[in-house]
Amino acid sequence: MKPSVLTTVVELRAAAHASRSSGRRVGLVPTLGALHRGHLALIRMAQRLTDQVIVSLFVNPTQFGPGEDLARYPRDLEGDLEQCRALGVDMVFAPDAEEMYPAGDSTRVIVSGLTEHLCGRSRPTHFQGVATIVTKLFAAVGPCTAVFGRKDYQQLKVIERLVTDLMLPVTVIPAPIMREPDGLALSSRNRYLASDRRQRALGLVRALSEAHAAHAAGERNVGQLLGRVQELLRQSGLAIDYASINHPETLEPFDPSERLSGPALLALAGFVEDTRLIDNLVLGEEADPLAAPGATLDRILGPAGAV
Ligand code: AMP
Repeated sequence: MKPSVLTTVVELRAAAHASRSSGRRVGLVPTLGALHRGHLALIRMAQRLTDQVIVSLFVNPTQFGPGEDLARYPRDLEGDLEQCRALGVDMVFAPDAEEMYPAGDSTRVIVSGLTEHLCGRSRPTHFQGVATIVTKLFAAVGPCTAVFGRKDYQQLKVIERLVTDLMLPVTVIPAPIMREPDGLALSSRNRYLASDRRQRALGLVRALSEAHAAHAAGERNVGQLLGRVQELLRQSGLAIDYASINHPETLEPFDPSERLSGPALLALAGFVEDTRLIDNLVLGEEADPLAAPGATLDRILGPAGAV
């Protein structure tokens, strides 16, 4: 059965309330749409944890900066509905921009500290757009369990922070990064990558894998780890936005002169032509991302083609 498509906040609030009133736990998976198997794995996780999953599909304009890819960001409502249907999702929220930002809208949610590092440096208004739309969704849905991917590690930390600080009745569940069999992290922006560009994009996961190996062999010097990562990214033909090692909770960057004494986030952002891609790994906590790249995805969804 095709999912019912809710387009207004009033409908969304009523549907979530009705589910809870009949004793069902509500799950929320916020996305920008153009669904891929990474999103589908998040939906599966939400389905395991809750009884009524709502997938939101909304290309949120406030999280795109001037000159970014808002206009060309892939949109495919029919395809998304078909994928939701195949997974048994029966409720989708797909508002238009006027619904989420009606005339006069002037409130923004700003999470300080965490947002000053990594992507926040090159995308200074991105996280206030994310925090604002996610807060609006949480306010509309009410008590729920919401699943977010570690692919957007900084976003996940920002959302965990805002839920704590604003005392929202939401349980945030992190999902592991879902990868293609060759290791590339799934992303809606991978659609921009023709095969030669895709080869270059693989430099991201190769750099993570190499850093993982060096760390596993005992390398703890931040400068040494970053130096090798940067060299590999350049060799792969990626223009580096950042390659950084940060505290996994506060996201404070480690200085190249420091030595790591616990788990540390290695976060990468780079451009292949005009496509910006990100990837990350928590050194000392997560496995080599190239050890069995598609395994997590297959475990959750079954092999490609199953969904
Ligand atoms: P997006 O539509 O790109 O905003 O992503 C919606 C949600 O899916 C976010 O929580 C992302 O972190 C998550 N997501 C996107 N790609 C992946 C991936 N490859 N692995 C895990 N989660 C992902």
